[in-house]
Amino acid sequence: MSDCIFCRIADGDIPAEFIYRDDKVAAFRDANPQAPVHILVIPREHCESSAHVDDPSLWSVLIDRAVKIARELGLEKDGYRMVINTGEQGGQSVPHLHLHLLAGRNLGWPPG
Ligand code: 5GP
Ligand code: ZN
Repeated sequence: MSDCIFCRIADGDIPAEFIYRDDKVAAFRDANPQAPVHILVIPREHCESSAHVDDPSLWSVLIDRAVKIARELGLEKDGYRMVINTGEQGGQSVPHLHLHLLAGRNLGWPPG
């Protein structure tokens, strides 16, 4: 989708600090980080939100990549959090499915 900001990042049309990229997934640093480590992991194919996933195998790919990135960055020692905001009350502001990978500080619970 040419008007979707995350599609454009995944396609390389808008710059981002990429952490990982393969044929299915892209991961890049959040422009407005909420923790010392804040990475967004997205499917390269446009999908509006978690509520719009047709092929459930996407979940294994997305979460597997996020866990592997966390391992590569050594985040599992102190821990990390994966978050998927969905829809308006879920706090989703970009309508392209993305998984937040957050680490590097004590993350409060419950979230706001
Ligand atoms: P949401 O609120 O939809 O769960 O998360 C969207 C995230 O995307 C936010 O944390 C926001 O900072 C990030 N974001 C929005 N636009 C851009 C952008 O152009 N580049 C990057 N790297 N992150 C973005
Ligand atoms: Zn998109």
